[in-house]
Amino acid sequence: MTKNNITETYDVIILGGGPAGLTAGIYLGRAKVKTLIINEGSIGGQMVLTHAIANFPGVDIDISGRDLSLKMKAQAKAFGCDFESNVEVTGIDLSGELKQVEIDGDEVFAAKSIIIASGGTPRPLGVNGESQFKGQGISYCATCDGDFFTDKEILVVGGGNSALEEAVSLTQYARKVTVIHQFDHFQATEHAIKLAQNNAKISFIMESEIQHIIGDQTLKGVEIMHMKTKARSQVFADGIFIFIGYIANTDSLPDSIILNARNEIITDENMATNIDGVFAAGDVREKQFRQITTAVSDGTIAALSAIDYLQK
Ligand SMILES: Cc1cc2nc3c(=O)[nH]c(=O)nc-3n(C[C@H](O)[C@H](O)[C@H](O)COP(=O)(O)OP(=O)(O)OC[C@H]3O[C@@H](n4cnc5c(N)ncnc54)[C@H](O)[C@@H]3O)c2cc1C
Repeated sequence: MTKNNITETYDVIILGGGPAGLTAGIYLGRAKVKTLIINEGSIGGQMVLTHAIANFPGVDIDISGRDLSLKMKAQAKAFGCDFESNVEVTGIDLSGELKQVEIDGDEVFAAKSIIIASGGTPRPLGVNGESQFKGQGISYCATCDGDFFTDKEILVVGGGNSALEEAVSLTQYARKVTVIHQFDHFQATEHAIKLAQNNAKISFIMESEIQHIIGDQTLKGVEIMHMKTKARSQVFADGIFIFIGYIANTDSLPDSIILNARNEIITDENMATNIDGVFAAGDVREKQFRQITTAVSDGTIAALSAIDYLQK
């Protein structure tokens, strides 16, 4: 993709404006490193999908994901970071000493170092009818769409912390919430499980998997199959919220960057990738725990490693 019409050259370009990218921006800006954060989508990344963040140190336990995102962005901006938000990254060239990023098929920005902090995207169920009703009954974000289901009956798919916490938050709108989970136990903390189990509006269908979505002009429900008995049944609902994990956003990266079998970027403990001057931070990289605090930690290390690289 190497181009000559470069709009502006930076020391570091950060791809992604979630907690990993914003934290890297705070550290780089504060160190007077000329930094651009390029973000597809809304600033804050997955944080803006979160109704309340109770486990980020030093903030109110009911802070919304949006508010925490805005605080992080304001901090990065105050230290001098530039932003290109709600753009599409249409080209990435990591081959030369000066790396290039093209946005919207038009402007090209260059930098000596790149931090990839492009995070993850909700994992789809992959069943018939999902794409037809996406955004029209099927959602991956309780904070964004919960209000549309006021006094309605909804299904929540998944059994991890996100699914149970978002199921609880959806009870402030919905008349009834049914959690459908494929195993006989949850993969969530005791606290999250208790909160969901003690909520009178929530019921559970365990050991069952959705086979397909039922609907014509509008969504009507799902057909499920019991994992052991293989018995099939139908569950009717006005909406479905899916929280079954995330896929790393690595599609737009060049083949030269080494990924694992799940398409996550492989880094060392300093967040360095296999390409000199290219670092990765947050949910996009291979690791076990994906939280805001771990993304923030990765962002810090990636920024300090980039500074080290620039000095050498
Ligand atoms: C519903 C839900 C609830 C959660 N609740 C909590 C919680 O309570 N506490 C907690 O600690 N964690 C929670 N998490 C997890 C936490 O939000 C993530 O671990 C964290 O946001 C990951 O940060 P990140 O910066 O790596 O990536 P992301 O937050 O995914 O941000 C990446 C950003 O990069 C953008 N992007 C994608 N591709 C590109 C590209 N090619 N170029 C430029 N930009 C790109 C994306 O649009 C996005 O804005 C929750 C997640 C979800 C989905």
